[in-house]
Amino acid sequence: PTVKDLLAAGERSFSFEFFPPKTDEGERQLWRAIRELEALRPTFVSVTYGAGGGNRDHTVSIVERLAHSTTLTPVAHFTAVNHSIRELRHLVGRFADAGVRNILAVRGDPPGDPMGTWVRHPEGVEYAEDLVRLIRQSGEFCVGVAAFPYKHPRSATIESDTEQFVRKCRAGADYAITQMFFKADDYLRLRDRVAAKGCYTPIIPGIMPVTQMSTIARSEQLSGAPFPPEVAARFEAVAHDPESVRRLGIEHAAELCQTLLDEGAPGIHFITFNRSSATREVFQALVPAIV
Ligand code: FAD
Repeated sequence: PTVKDLLAAGERSFSFEFFPPKTDEGERQLWRAIRELEALRPTFVSVTYGAGGGNRDHTVSIVERLAHSTTLTPVAHFTAVNHSIRELRHLVGRFADAGVRNILAVRGDPPGDPMGTWVRHPEGVEYAEDLVRLIRQSGEFCVGVAAFPYKHPRSATIESDTEQFVRKCRAGADYAITQMFFKADDYLRLRDRVAAKGCYTPIIPGIMPVTQMSTIARSEQLSGAPFPPEVAARFEAVAHDPESVRRLGIEHAAELCQTLLDEGAPGIHFITFNRSSATREVFQALVPAIV
Protein backbone atom coordinates (compact mmCIF):
# COMPACT_ATOMS: atom_id res chain seq x y z
CA PRO A 1 0.00 0.00 0.00
CA THR A 2 1.03 3.63 -0.36
CA VAL A 3 0.99 6.19 2.45
CA LYS A 4 -1.54 8.16 0.39
CA ASP A 5 -3.98 5.21 0.34
CA LEU A 6 -3.44 4.67 4.05
CA LEU A 7 -4.11 8.34 4.82
CA ALA A 8 -7.14 8.35 2.53
CA ALA A 9 -8.58 5.41 4.45
CA GLY A 10 -9.22 7.95 7.20
CA GLU A 11 -7.27 6.15 9.90
CA ARG A 12 -4.68 8.08 11.85
CA SER A 13 -1.19 7.32 10.59
CA PHE A 14 1.44 6.19 13.11
CA SER A 15 4.96 5.85 11.77
CA PHE A 16 8.53 5.40 12.95
CA GLU A 17 11.73 6.86 11.54
CA PHE A 18 15.08 5.06 11.57
CA PHE A 19 18.55 5.93 10.31
CA PRO A 20 21.18 3.68 8.68
CA PRO A 21 23.64 2.70 11.46
CA LYS A 22 27.41 2.76 11.01
CA THR A 23 28.47 -0.21 13.16
CA ASP A 24 27.52 -3.87 13.59
CA GLU A 25 26.18 -3.14 17.07
CA GLY A 26 24.16 -0.26 15.59
CA GLU A 27 22.79 -2.66 13.00
CA ARG A 28 21.66 -5.13 15.69
CA GLN A 29 20.08 -2.28 17.63
CA LEU A 30 18.20 -1.10 14.52
CA TRP A 31 16.71 -4.51 13.73
CA ARG A 32 15.84 -5.09 17.38
CA ALA A 33 13.96 -1.75 17.40
CA ILE A 34 12.27 -2.60 14.10
CA ARG A 35 11.09 -6.00 15.37
CA GLU A 36 9.79 -4.48 18.62
CA LEU A 37 7.98 -1.65 16.85
CA GLU A 38 6.63 -3.94 14.10
CA ALA A 39 4.36 -5.45 16.76
CA LEU A 40 2.59 -2.05 17.06
CA ARG A 41 1.56 -2.36 13.37
CA PRO A 42 2.61 1.15 12.30
CA THR A 43 1.17 2.65 9.13
CA PHE A 44 4.69 2.95 7.72
CA VAL A 45 8.33 3.15 8.75
CA SER A 46 10.90 5.43 7.14
CA VAL A 47 14.67 5.28 6.73
CA THR A 48 16.73 8.45 6.37
CA TYR A 49 19.26 9.02 3.60
CA GLY A 50 22.80 10.17 4.41
CA ALA A 51 24.24 13.44 3.20
CA GLY A 52 26.91 11.58 1.24
CA GLY A 53 29.20 8.57 1.26
CA GLY A 54 28.68 4.89 1.95
CA ASN A 55 25.57 4.91 4.09
CA ARG A 56 23.39 5.95 1.15
CA ASP A 57 23.49 2.45 -0.31
CA HIS A 58 22.74 1.25 3.18
CA THR A 59 19.41 3.12 3.13
CA VAL A 60 18.51 1.24 -0.03
CA SER A 61 19.47 -2.13 1.46
CA ILE A 62 17.50 -1.46 4.68
CA VAL A 63 14.32 -0.52 2.79
CA GLU A 64 14.79 -3.57 0.52
CA ARG A 65 15.02 -5.80 3.58
CA LEU A 66 12.01 -4.08 5.19
CA ALA A 67 10.02 -4.67 2.01
CA HIS A 68 11.05 -8.32 1.68
CA SER A 69 11.26 -9.66 5.20
CA THR A 70 8.85 -7.68 7.38
CA THR A 71 5.16 -6.84 7.31
CA LEU A 72 6.02 -3.12 7.33
CA THR A 73 5.43 -0.49 4.62
CA PRO A 74 8.83 1.17 4.09
CA VAL A 75 9.30 4.79 3.06
CA ALA A 76 12.73 5.62 1.65
CA HIS A 77 14.05 9.13 2.32
CA PHE A 78 15.92 10.38 -0.70
CA THR A 79 18.01 13.52 -1.31
CA ALA A 80 19.41 15.43 -4.28
CA VAL A 81 22.87 15.88 -2.71
CA ASN A 82 25.75 14.91 -5.04
CA HIS A 83 23.53 13.02 -7.47
CA SER A 84 23.07 13.62 -11.19
CA ILE A 85 19.57 13.25 -12.61
CA ARG A 86 20.73 9.95 -14.13
CA GLU A 87 21.77 8.61 -10.71
CA LEU A 88 18.56 9.86 -9.13
CA ARG A 89 16.53 8.00 -11.78
CA HIS A 90 18.61 4.87 -11.28
CA LEU A 91 17.98 4.96 -7.52
CA VAL A 92 14.26 5.43 -7.99
CA GLY A 93 14.39 2.37 -10.27
CA ARG A 94 16.09 0.38 -7.53
CA PHE A 95 13.31 1.31 -5.10
CA ALA A 96 10.72 0.23 -7.66
CA ASP A 97 12.55 -3.10 -8.24
CA ALA A 98 12.52 -3.72 -4.48
CA GLY A 99 8.77 -3.10 -4.39
CA VAL A 100 9.22 0.19 -2.50
CA ARG A 101 6.46 2.55 -3.63
CA ASN A 102 6.88 5.31 -1.04
CA ILE A 103 9.60 7.94 -1.19
CA LEU A 104 10.17 11.00 1.03
CA ALA A 105 11.77 13.60 -1.24
CA VAL A 106 14.02 16.05 0.62
CA ARG A 107 16.72 18.18 -0.94
CA GLY A 108 19.35 17.37 1.68
CA ASP A 109 22.10 19.61 3.04
CA PRO A 110 25.70 20.04 1.88
CA PRO A 111 27.80 17.23 3.48
CA GLY A 112 30.02 18.45 6.33
CA ASP A 113 28.34 21.77 7.09
CA PRO A 114 24.54 21.62 6.90
CA MET A 115 24.36 25.42 6.77
CA GLY A 116 27.14 25.71 4.16
CA THR A 117 26.46 26.94 0.64
CA TRP A 118 24.17 24.60 -1.26
CA VAL A 119 25.79 23.55 -4.53
CA ARG A 120 23.65 21.70 -7.01
CA HIS A 121 25.28 18.72 -8.74
CA PRO A 122 26.15 20.02 -12.25
CA GLU A 123 23.74 17.50 -13.74
CA GLY A 124 21.42 17.35 -10.75
CA VAL A 125 18.39 19.22 -9.42
CA GLU A 126 18.04 22.37 -7.33
CA TYR A 127 15.04 21.90 -5.02
CA ALA A 128 12.97 19.16 -3.41
CA GLU A 129 10.19 20.30 -5.74
CA ASP A 130 12.31 19.07 -8.72
CA LEU A 131 12.87 15.74 -6.97
CA VAL A 132 9.12 15.36 -6.50
CA ARG A 133 8.62 15.83 -10.26
CA LEU A 134 11.44 13.44 -11.12
CA ILE A 135 9.98 10.71 -8.91
CA ARG A 136 6.47 11.31 -10.27
CA GLN A 137 7.76 10.98 -13.85
CA SER A 138 9.51 7.72 -12.95
CA GLY A 139 6.42 5.70 -12.14
CA GLU A 140 3.64 5.07 -9.67
CA PHE A 141 5.10 6.39 -6.45
CA CYS A 142 3.62 8.02 -3.41
CA VAL A 143 5.78 11.02 -2.57
CA GLY A 144 6.21 12.79 0.77
CA VAL A 145 8.06 16.07 1.44
CA ALA A 146 9.44 17.98 4.45
CA ALA A 147 7.68 20.86 6.25
CA PHE A 148 9.17 23.28 8.77
CA PRO A 149 7.04 24.75 11.58
CA TYR A 150 9.64 27.51 12.20
CA LYS A 151 10.46 27.95 8.46
CA HIS A 152 13.48 26.40 6.81
CA PRO A 153 16.67 28.15 8.01
CA ARG A 154 17.49 29.06 4.39
CA SER A 155 14.12 30.75 3.79
CA ALA A 156 14.18 34.53 4.11
CA THR A 157 10.70 34.79 5.63
CA ILE A 158 7.88 32.61 6.91
CA GLU A 159 5.85 33.89 3.95
CA SER A 160 8.36 32.78 1.28
CA ASP A 161 8.84 29.47 3.10
CA THR A 162 5.10 28.84 2.99
CA GLU A 163 4.94 29.72 -0.71
CA GLN A 164 7.77 27.32 -1.59
CA PHE A 165 6.19 24.60 0.52
CA VAL A 166 2.89 24.98 -1.32
CA ARG A 167 4.76 24.83 -4.68
CA LYS A 168 6.34 21.59 -3.58
CA CYS A 169 2.93 20.16 -2.71
CA ARG A 170 1.49 21.29 -6.05
CA ALA A 171 4.43 19.63 -7.84
CA GLY A 172 2.87 16.35 -6.70
CA ALA A 173 3.53 15.68 -3.01
CA ASP A 174 0.94 13.42 -1.40
CA TYR A 175 1.77 14.35 2.18
CA ALA A 176 4.41 16.09 4.29
CA ILE A 177 6.23 15.30 7.52
CA THR A 178 7.43 18.12 9.76
CA GLN A 179 10.75 18.84 11.34
CA MET A 180 10.46 17.98 15.04
CA PHE A 181 8.85 20.58 17.33
CA PHE A 182 7.79 20.65 20.99
CA LYS A 183 4.66 22.83 21.06
CA ALA A 184 1.34 22.01 19.37
CA ASP A 185 0.59 25.65 18.44
CA ASP A 186 3.67 25.79 16.26
CA TYR A 187 2.34 22.92 14.14
CA LEU A 188 -1.16 24.42 14.03
CA ARG A 189 0.19 27.77 12.82
CA LEU A 190 2.09 26.03 10.00
CA ARG A 191 -1.05 24.13 8.98
CA ASP A 192 -3.12 27.34 9.04
CA ARG A 193 -0.57 29.24 6.90
CA VAL A 194 -0.58 26.48 4.31
CA ALA A 195 -4.38 26.14 4.34
CA ALA A 196 -4.69 29.93 3.91
CA LYS A 197 -2.99 29.42 0.53
CA GLY A 198 -5.61 26.84 -0.43
CA CYS A 199 -3.29 23.86 0.11
CA TYR A 200 -4.63 20.90 2.11
CA THR A 201 -1.85 18.36 1.66
CA PRO A 202 -1.84 16.28 4.88
CA ILE A 203 1.00 17.39 7.19
CA ILE A 204 2.11 14.72 9.65
CA PRO A 205 3.79 16.04 12.81
CA GLY A 206 7.33 14.74 13.41
CA ILE A 207 7.77 14.03 17.14
CA MET A 208 10.76 13.04 19.22
CA PRO A 209 10.27 12.41 22.95
CA VAL A 210 12.80 14.19 25.16
CA THR A 211 14.62 11.47 27.11
CA GLN A 212 17.51 13.54 28.47
CA MET A 213 18.27 17.17 29.30
CA SER A 214 20.80 17.40 26.43
CA THR A 215 17.91 17.26 23.91
CA ILE A 216 16.57 20.50 25.40
CA ALA A 217 19.98 22.13 25.05
CA ARG A 218 20.11 21.03 21.39
CA SER A 219 16.51 22.00 20.67
CA GLU A 220 17.33 24.92 18.41
CA GLN A 221 19.65 22.78 16.31
CA LEU A 222 17.13 19.92 16.12
CA SER A 223 13.89 21.81 15.64
CA GLY A 224 14.89 25.28 14.48
CA ALA A 225 13.54 27.03 17.60
CA PRO A 226 14.41 27.36 21.28
CA PHE A 227 12.70 24.80 23.54
CA PRO A 228 9.43 26.30 24.88
CA PRO A 229 10.39 27.93 28.23
CA GLU A 230 7.24 26.81 30.08
CA VAL A 231 7.99 23.17 29.18
CA ALA A 232 11.71 23.59 29.91
CA ALA A 233 10.77 24.71 33.44
CA ARG A 234 8.97 21.39 34.03
CA PHE A 235 12.10 19.50 32.97
CA GLU A 236 14.46 21.70 34.99
CA ALA A 237 12.50 20.89 38.14
CA VAL A 238 13.51 17.20 37.78
CA ALA A 239 16.85 17.67 35.98
CA HIS A 240 18.81 16.03 38.83
CA ASP A 241 17.13 12.66 38.23
CA PRO A 242 17.59 11.12 34.74
CA GLU A 243 14.74 8.63 35.25
CA SER A 244 12.29 11.45 36.11
CA VAL A 245 13.47 13.41 33.07
CA ARG A 246 12.77 10.41 30.86
CA ARG A 247 9.33 9.84 32.44
CA LEU A 248 8.40 13.49 32.00
CA GLY A 249 9.65 13.35 28.39
CA ILE A 250 7.30 10.46 27.64
CA GLU A 251 4.43 12.23 29.42
CA HIS A 252 5.08 15.50 27.57
CA ALA A 253 5.34 13.77 24.16
CA ALA A 254 2.10 11.87 24.83
CA GLU A 255 0.30 15.12 25.81
CA LEU A 256 1.64 16.86 22.70
CA CYS A 257 0.56 13.99 20.42
CA GLN A 258 -2.88 13.84 22.03
CA THR A 259 -3.41 17.58 21.48
CA LEU A 260 -2.27 17.27 17.85
CA LEU A 261 -4.61 14.36 17.18
CA ASP A 262 -7.50 16.18 18.92
CA GLU A 263 -6.79 19.14 16.62
CA GLY A 264 -7.11 16.89 13.57
CA ALA A 265 -3.49 16.04 12.73
CA PRO A 266 -3.49 13.12 10.27
CA GLY A 267 -1.15 11.07 12.47
CA ILE A 268 2.19 11.11 14.25
CA HIS A 269 5.64 10.35 12.85
CA PHE A 270 8.03 9.31 15.64
CA ILE A 271 11.74 9.95 15.29
CA THR A 272 13.18 6.91 17.09
CA PHE A 273 16.96 7.20 16.76
CA ASN A 274 16.75 3.42 16.29
CA ARG A 275 15.55 2.78 19.84
CA SER A 276 12.13 1.42 20.48
CA SER A 277 11.43 1.94 24.17
CA ALA A 278 10.59 5.67 24.47
CA THR A 279 8.50 5.60 21.30
CA ARG A 280 6.69 2.47 22.47
CA GLU A 281 5.88 4.10 25.80
CA VAL A 282 4.49 7.25 24.18
CA PHE A 283 2.51 5.13 21.74
CA GLN A 284 1.13 3.04 24.59
CA ALA A 285 0.12 6.13 26.58
CA LEU A 286 -1.60 7.46 23.49
CA VAL A 287 -3.57 4.60 22.05
CA PRO A 288 -4.00 1.90 24.65
CA ALA A 289 -6.74 0.38 22.52
CA ILE A 290 -4.35 -0.41 19.66
CA VAL A 291 -1.62 -2.07 21.72
P1 FAD B 1 13.50 22.42 -0.33
O1 FAD B 1 12.04 22.20 -0.26
O2 FAD B 1 14.16 22.32 -1.67
O3 FAD B 1 13.81 23.83 0.33
C1 FAD B 1 15.13 24.30 0.55
C2 FAD B 1 15.11 25.82 0.63
O4 FAD B 1 14.87 26.34 -0.66
C3 FAD B 1 13.99 26.37 1.52
O5 FAD B 1 14.45 27.54 2.10
C4 FAD B 1 12.88 26.66 0.52
O6 FAD B 1 11.96 27.63 0.98
C5 FAD B 1 13.68 27.14 -0.66
N1 FAD B 1 13.01 26.88 -1.94
C6 FAD B 1 12.35 25.75 -2.31
N2 FAD B 1 11.90 25.86 -3.58
C7 FAD B 1 12.28 27.08 -4.03
C8 FAD B 1 12.12 27.76 -5.27
N3 FAD B 1 11.48 27.22 -6.29
N4 FAD B 1 12.68 29.02 -5.38
C9 FAD B 1 13.33 29.58 -4.34
N5 FAD B 1 13.51 28.96 -3.14
C10 FAD B 1 12.99 27.75 -2.98
N6 FAD B 1 18.15 15.35 5.18
C11 FAD B 1 18.91 14.32 4.74
O7 FAD B 1 20.06 14.54 4.31
N7 FAD B 1 18.46 13.03 4.72
C12 FAD B 1 17.21 12.72 5.14
O8 FAD B 1 16.82 11.54 5.14
C13 FAD B 1 16.36 13.77 5.63
N8 FAD B 1 15.10 13.53 6.05
C14 FAD B 1 14.31 14.57 6.50
C15 FAD B 1 13.01 14.28 6.92
C16 FAD B 1 12.18 15.29 7.39
C17 FAD B 1 10.78 14.96 7.84
C18 FAD B 1 12.67 16.64 7.44
C19 FAD B 1 11.81 17.74 7.96
C20 FAD B 1 13.96 16.93 7.01
C21 FAD B 1 14.79 15.90 6.53
N9 FAD B 1 16.09 16.16 6.07
C22 FAD B 1 16.88 15.11 5.62
C23 FAD B 1 16.66 17.52 6.11
C24 FAD B 1 16.48 18.27 4.77
O9 FAD B 1 17.18 17.61 3.75
C25 FAD B 1 17.02 19.67 4.95
O10 FAD B 1 16.27 20.37 5.90
C26 FAD B 1 17.16 20.48 3.67
O11 FAD B 1 17.95 21.64 3.96
C27 FAD B 1 15.86 21.00 3.11
O12 FAD B 1 15.20 20.04 2.47
P2 FAD B 1 13.79 20.39 1.75
O13 FAD B 1 13.38 19.13 1.11
O14 FAD B 1 12.87 21.05 2.66
O15 FAD B 1 14.30 21.42 0.63
